[in-house]
Amino acid sequence: MTEEDKIVMAPCSDCVGKRKHRVLFETAQHEEETIEKYAMIECCGCSRISMGYQRVWKYDGSIDHDFFPSPVSRKEPAWVYWVWLGQFRSSAEQEAAKLMFLLREIYQAVHGSQYRLAAMGIRALLEQVMIMKVGDLPTFNEKLNAFQGDGYISALQRDAMRATLDVGDAAMHRGFVPTEADLNVALDVVEGVMAPIFGHANEARALAGRVPPRKK
Ligand SMILES: [Zn+2]
Repeated sequence: MTEEDKIVMAPCSDCVGKRKHRVLFETAQHEEETIEKYAMIECCGCSRISMGYQRVWKYDGSIDHDFFPSPVSRKEPAWVYWVWLGQFRSSAEQEAAKLMFLLREIYQAVHGSQYRLAAMGIRALLEQVMIMKVGDLPTFNEKLNAFQGDGYISALQRDAMRATLDVGDAAMHRGFVPTEADLNVALDVVEGVMAPIFGHANEARALAGRVPPRKK
């Protein structure tokens, strides 16, 4: 950092939250009623580059802010990308990849404040995960019972899954608009269910390969 560097506070999607950013380049366009300012900015913590935009209203000096890409308040888990690394070799990997694409769309909906779409997506995703593991049983409760019976979730997780599925149902059929906080709880449940199935199994296998075996 040199003395001439201009530093501003802005959201960083990698650090998640407001961080100091170095202004790399800025320009402004003067319109009749506004001044439109654009700045390329670099996070001082992680070096991620994004663009800041300000619209200054001349008549009262008020300012609208925006950032591109849209800042995120929650990061996708690392295991979302692991199926990509596997290059979809087996049919199981191909099935898992479809679910990861859906999970990524759900995150994009949350980042874009499309909370109803995200809740409906979460309901569809949880159903797909259950179908993948226990088959397409007629009702949600039968799927949940089989999913729990086969050991994929605990009794506590079953209740949390039921509540999360209901949020999607209410958004789909009863006009319910969930908040960002509701979606964060729902995503905690989704990640808690999916991580052991799609994430930790690979991690644990890699770990087992690195740990020296017990002496007989
Ligand atoms: Zn950062």
